[in-house]
Amino acid sequence: MTARILDGKAIAEQVREDIALKAAQLTAQGTQPCLAVILVGSDPASAVYVRNKVAACEKAGFRSLKFEYAADAQPETVLAKIAELNADASVHGILVQLPLPKQFDEEAVLEAIDPAKDVDGFHAENFGMLLQGRESFYPCTPWGVMKMLEVGGVQVQGADAVVIGRSNIVGKPMAVMLLSAGATVTVCHSKTKDLAGHVKRADIVVAAVGRPNFVTGDMLKPGAVVIDVGINRLPSGKLCGDVDFESASQVASLITPVPGGVGPMTITMLLGNTLLAAQRAAAKA
Ligand code: NDP
Repeated sequence: MTARILDGKAIAEQVREDIALKAAQLTAQGTQPCLAVILVGSDPASAVYVRNKVAACEKAGFRSLKFEYAADAQPETVLAKIAELNADASVHGILVQLPLPKQFDEEAVLEAIDPAKDVDGFHAENFGMLLQGRESFYPCTPWGVMKMLEVGGVQVQGADAVVIGRSNIVGKPMAVMLLSAGATVTVCHSKTKDLAGHVKRADIVVAAVGRPNFVTGDMLKPGAVVIDVGINRLPSGKLCGDVDFESASQVASLITPVPGGVGPMTITMLLGNTLLAAQRAAAKA
């Protein structure tokens, strides 16, 4: 079997076109979606992510604001900026790029963001809402995966799904979203006893491990749908996922590549959340 490739770049473009259209309508009605991004320190990867987010906002017709602080910035300074942005009705989404320098308590910073502007979906209130199946802001990466499964025509209801990884930003919310969509979900992590056995039974495998080529073709059930969230940089400089694409694509029925898979969907869903925040704000005004 040779797997069909689920092209995240193409899906992302399609979704972004729709977002741009809706943003233009909202702007014409007097509310231009606006995302404020806060970057602390000079981590090169974070700087690239922020640049890409700002560029994507502009392309979609959003307003974007960028606030940069030195690596030795005081947490109070950043918290004061968050409070100011919380109070600014023209700002709909606030994003603090992670990781933060060590003098910061990341949880406290994320909790300082108004949940109604928490477009990353990392605030505990939004995570609680997600757990209860209530309307909230969903974390962008797992929400992007759900969108890809939908566009790929994957039957989630009733499927056996295995999520490898249990982080707050990917693995856990991913498991909750699959569960809400009717899958029977198993979450594997570094303490899982028989990871290969769990993966072998899965109709849908989502790998969010952060280890290059962790999932290989021989671990998969023939015909499985394989979603690779991992972004790993090899010593050669090449990017690779958590799935060994070559062997896995011989066994899977549908697979996402890296790059060009889940990655482009993450920023897309960030735009989606910002639009949603702006729509909610406009409806309230
Ligand atoms: P974390 O490091 O926070 O979590 C990794 C998870 O994998 C942990 O739950 C860990 O288990 C588990 N794990 C690690 N090693 C093993 C192992 N040997 N066997 C089983 N489980 C293991 O990573 P993130 O969730 O933040 O990210 C995961 C990957 O996704 C990374 O490659 C990251 O770069 C990528 N990513 C991609 C995004 C995108 O836009 N495409 C966005 C966000 C992340 P334990 O909890 O027990 O330690």
